[in-house]
Amino acid sequence: MYEIFGICPQLENLSRKCDKELKERFEKIDEIAQINQLKVIAAMQKNHVSEACFAVSTGYGYGDLGRDTLEAVYADVFQTEDALVRPQITCGTHALGIALAANLRPGDEMLSATGQPYDTLEEVIGIRPSEGSLADYGITYRQVELTNDGHIDIKALLEAIEPKTKLIEFQRSRGYRTRPTLGVQEIGQAIRAVHEKYPKVICMVDNCYGEFIELEEPSQYGADMVVGSLIKNPGGGLAPAGGYIAGTKECVERCAHRLTTPGIGKEAGANFGVMQNLYFGFFVAPMVAASAEKSAIYAARIFEEFGYETFPHSSEIRHDIIQEITLGSREAMISFSKGVQAGAAVDAYVTPEPSEQPGYNCDIIMADGCFIQGSSIELSCDGPLREPFNIYFQGGITFTHGKLGVLKAAQSMIDDGLIKLNEINISNK
Ligand SMILES: *Cc1c(COP(=O)(O)O)cnc(C)c1O
Repeated sequence: MYEIFGICPQLENLSRKCDKELKERFEKIDEIAQINQLKVIAAMQKNHVSEACFAVSTGYGYGDLGRDTLEAVYADVFQTEDALVRPQITCGTHALGIALAANLRPGDEMLSATGQPYDTLEEVIGIRPSEGSLADYGITYRQVELTNDGHIDIKALLEAIEPKTKLIEFQRSRGYRTRPTLGVQEIGQAIRAVHEKYPKVICMVDNCYGEFIELEEPSQYGADMVVGSLIKNPGGGLAPAGGYIAGTKECVERCAHRLTTPGIGKEAGANFGVMQNLYFGFFVAPMVAASAEKSAIYAARIFEEFGYETFPHSSEIRHDIIQEITLGSREAMISFSKGVQAGAAVDAYVTPEPSEQPGYNCDIIMADGCFIQGSSIELSCDGPLREPFNIYFQGGITFTHGKLGVLKAAQSMIDDGLIKLNEINISNK
């Protein structure tokens, strides 16, 4: 079958070697996935998920059993008091924007505990001037840099807190930056340290790409809100759109009033018939996240064989599904993306081109031959075309597909003369 996909025999041999080497590692990932799978099933049983939950609601969507039950299921899995899980939340940035705008008031300050936040949040916060940003509403912002080795500087964080500091953001995943993804325990420790001294400061975690990779979520360590996108891990590849905010009753209620409008809050919001997909996606999400994690490790392993620098290294413990590979040139990023796209089940015949993207300040290249537009829990890659030319590979609903994407990316670079096979020692056994 690999021959049909144009994978050369040397690359196939290399792939077999990696399969063997990664076997034990993958078994550990399966163990975590199994426990998380049971957590989701238990929450669904406890909340009496039934066929009635899949019914379509329209108009105001009052008394929507499916919507309300799904929010209870999310709250149980994240072990929070409440959750807001809606198709009306456009994407992860929107979910984060709601959580911030809902919980901050003019004169308040937002503090980032993890340095520069994700690119699209720069306009939400007003780091890059933007219409309707938090800065526009008189909300100030500061950030505490990570330590030199990329970890939370708890001492500096505690010292940075002032009376007007109302909310602290922790970003779990690396975004488009070279720094370690933070583990739940590390974030949890920092949150506990903040809450010990400042119990009223809201701790919010940008949980994008981290869900179900570990046995616990940051909310289990006292995060007041964990926030993410349904076209990443928790949507399991089946959610057609949406975002979630899980957290304390107070915080989630404020978010609901911001998402809809004061006075309406969680009470309204039709589901347009997406409920079955949201449940089905959340149900498979632990297994899907595990497939994506394996695909990420595979990408790292294969490209390390070709001498590329990878973050994290294939041997490191992971806290998210993103694999960063330093490809070092614009041509390599384009070639890699072309390969990933050619491995897709949808739109495999098109060629990705660099282009502008709303919310980003430079050209982006992106391969996403996806069932859900822009879904990054599906096999995909992207990256800003700027130094040091890092590609971010992610997704793979099934590991088989993730692996094909990795091999197609490598083959594309071989075919374009960017990787020279004869320089690499690949055994034929
Ligand atoms: C993807 C991502 C976001 C934004 O999500 P979108 O759905 O693309 O708006 C925010 N933070 C992090 C860390 C992310 O990975």
